[in-house]
Amino acid sequence: MQSMDTPQHLHAAAPALIDRVETFLVDLPTIRPHQLSMATMNGQTLMLVRLYCSDGTVGVGEGTTIGGLAYGAESPEGMKLAIDTYFAPLLLGADASLIPAIMARLNKAIQDNRFAKCAIETALFDALGQRTGLPISQLLGGRARESLPIAWTLASGDTAKDIDEAERMLAARRHKIFKLKIGRREVEADVAHVAAIKKALGDRGSVRVDVNMAWSELEAQRGLAGLVDAGCELVEQPVASAPALARLKGKHNIAIMADESLTGPASAFALARIGGADVFAIKIEQSGGLRAAQQVAAIGDAAGIELYGGTMLEGAIGTIASAHAFATFRELQWGTELFGPLLLTEEILAEPLQYQDFQLAIPNRPGLGIVLDEERVQYFRRDRKQGATVTAARPATLAG
Ligand SMILES: [Mg+2]
Repeated sequence: MQSMDTPQHLHAAAPALIDRVETFLVDLPTIRPHQLSMATMNGQTLMLVRLYCSDGTVGVGEGTTIGGLAYGAESPEGMKLAIDTYFAPLLLGADASLIPAIMARLNKAIQDNRFAKCAIETALFDALGQRTGLPISQLLGGRARESLPIAWTLASGDTAKDIDEAERMLAARRHKIFKLKIGRREVEADVAHVAAIKKALGDRGSVRVDVNMAWSELEAQRGLAGLVDAGCELVEQPVASAPALARLKGKHNIAIMADESLTGPASAFALARIGGADVFAIKIEQSGGLRAAQQVAAIGDAAGIELYGGTMLEGAIGTIASAHAFATFRELQWGTELFGPLLLTEEILAEPLQYQDFQLAIPNRPGLGIVLDEERVQYFRRDRKQGATVTAARPATLAG
C-alpha cells in the first residue's frame, strides 16, 4: 500500500546495491611536455573506478593528479590503493542511489582523500543517471548553460612556441582565453614572456597567468605590477598562503584567483572570510566531489567572489563530470579550463567530446553521457604492460 510520504515508484524497484568495485590505472601520453612551476608532465595517469550495481548499471569515475605527487598528497596509484583497501568495504552492499548517505559514510570513516572521493561520487552519479535516464547535471539540480567556454594553457616553456600554439588555437576557433604557466624563472623574465604573448595576440585573446604558488609575497608585489602593464587580466595563486593572497588582493588592477588554497567548502569559507580572492578556481577533485564543488560555488556567490571552472588535467571522464557540475553554477564569470583531454594524444571515448567555437558542449545523455572505447581503455591499462609501446602512437592533433 502506498504511504503518504513515500511515492509509489520508490517502492516499485528493488534498491540497486553496489556489487563490485573495480579500479585500474591508464597511462596516456601528452601532446607536448607541460611545464608547471612544480613539475613537467610528459604523460597523464588516470585512475579509473567502476562501480557495478545489482540493477545492471555500471558507473565510472576518474581520479587524476598533476605530476604525480607534485601538486598534492594524492597520486593515481595511491587512490587505487585507498579505494581497493579502505573505500571498497564501505561501498559493497550499499544502496547506490543514496549518494549523500554513501558520501557521508566515506567522509566519516576516511580523512582527506578528496580526489578518490570525487572519483567515487562521479561513478555513483553516473550509475544513478543511467538508472533514472537523466544527465548528471540534471541530478545536480539542472543546468544554467549548455556549453562552457574553454581556456587553453600555454606551458611549453618557450615564448615563440607559445605564441605559435595560441595562433593555431585562435585560427581553429578552439580557444581565445590563454592561461600561461609561470613561476619557474625570475619574475622579470616571466613578466617579459607574458608581455610578449599578450602583445602578439592583442585583443584577439585574453591572457591570464598561473604562478602555482611559486612567488614570495615580495616577488608577487613586483610581478603583479609588471603583469598589469603587460595587459594580463588575472593571476592565479601567485603565493601559497591565504593571508598573503588577501594582502595582495586589490593592490593592483588585476584579479587574484585562488586555486591551491581551495580544498573544499571549509577552505572556501575561510578564504571568503578574509577576502583572500577575487575569483575562485573550482575543481571537483580539489573540492572532494561534485556536490562539494557546488557548495564552494555557493560560498563564492554569497561572498561576491567570481567563479572559474578549473581542471586537474583530468581525462575525458573527470572533464565531463566537471562540466556537469560547472553547468549548474549560477555564475561562471571567468569560464573554464576543461581542456584536459585535448592535452592527451589518445582518445579513450567511442565519440570524442565536442570542442567547437571556443566551447565544450555538455552531453545530454544519461549519467556522464559518454561512452568509453573499451578496447582502447584496456590497451592503455598499466597492468596490461602495454604502456611502453604507446609513445609512438598517432601524432599530436594540436592543430586540429
Ligand atoms: Mg592553478
